[in-house]
Amino acid sequence: AKDSGRNAIQLFRTSMQAAASERLRLENELRQALLRGEFELFFQPQVDARSGQVIGAEALLRWQHPTLGAQSPALFIQVLEDSGLILPVGGWVLSEACRACEQLIAEQLVDGDDFSLCVNISPQQFRQSNFVEQVAASLRDSGLPRAMLKLEITEGIVIHNLDDTIAKMHRLKKLGVSFAMDDFGTGYSSLTYLKRLPVDVLKIDQSFVRDATHDPNDAEIVRAIVAMARSLGLSMIAEGVEQQEQLDFLQQQGCHLYQGYLYSRPLPLAEFRALLVHAKQR
Ligand code: C2E
Ligand code: CA
Ligand code: CA
Ligand code: CA
Repeated sequence: AKDSGRNAIQLFRTSMQAAASERLRLENELRQALLRGEFELFFQPQVDARSGQVIGAEALLRWQHPTLGAQSPALFIQVLEDSGLILPVGGWVLSEACRACEQLIAEQLVDGDDFSLCVNISPQQFRQSNFVEQVAASLRDSGLPRAMLKLEITEGIVIHNLDDTIAKMHRLKKLGVSFAMDDFGTGYSSLTYLKRLPVDVLKIDQSFVRDATHDPNDAEIVRAIVAMARSLGLSMIAEGVEQQEQLDFLQQQGCHLYQGYLYSRPLPLAEFRALLVHAKQR
């Protein structure tokens, strides 16, 4: 028994080492990916179910791996965070997203009054001392109208210092940008935070959307989120909507804005542009 215990420890060590070197390899590959320009942005349309209009898009990071093709950040975002690579990569995302959107304006496919560009901001990225200046620079360099930019944050940004977070958000709001609270209800959600943060939009997390049509608990959570958004005067958007029944349920609850495979998957810029052209012709 003692022997097998020792073997188990040995096996554990070996697999720990394997995991660590695998991580290191991935980190190096990601560093190279940034230098080689292998990152790309996809855009997922956001729709108003009442009018059928595309009212915005969420920029989503992809890694065009030389052999594996487009990789979702779910696979590597943690490594970007842990290694600090999220800072240069996130900076690239912000400026690239603004540039792409400004291009769509120039082509008259979207306009500032009824379209917003949503960009995911990691807590680390937000906490950088010059984050406000970075946002201002991306807006200035791209020429994107400031009110078109919406930053998607998660509750993770308040872990460190709530007052600093609030102050920084107010500075950004002064610039003209707005905020969406992403993945709401999945973290250490606190109504207290939500009340104090100058957030404009609540995103109803896809985990609740997915199960709301067959799990009464999730249906109840969606109802509660909608009620909360209402009472705080926030707008809301549902993510991960795949089925018509899910959309029907959300609309019954009073949530009309959504994104999800039901309307479209995240698309490369060229395909997103084609979708907008098509939508305009309808
Ligand atoms: P998220 O911000 O919650 O983004 C929504 C995720 O749901 C995206 O995954 C999107 O492709 C996926 N999705 C959209 N519609 C549907 C649907 O109908 N069904 C299902 N099952 N999934 C749907 P993606 O693109 O793989 O991104 C995963 C996560 O990685 C994002 O979750 C976000 O947290 C993070 N991420 C993506 N891009 C960036 C970025 O540029 N910066 C940062 N910091 N994080 C990013
Ligand atoms: Ca998001
Ligand atoms: Ca989300
Ligand atoms: Ca999520």
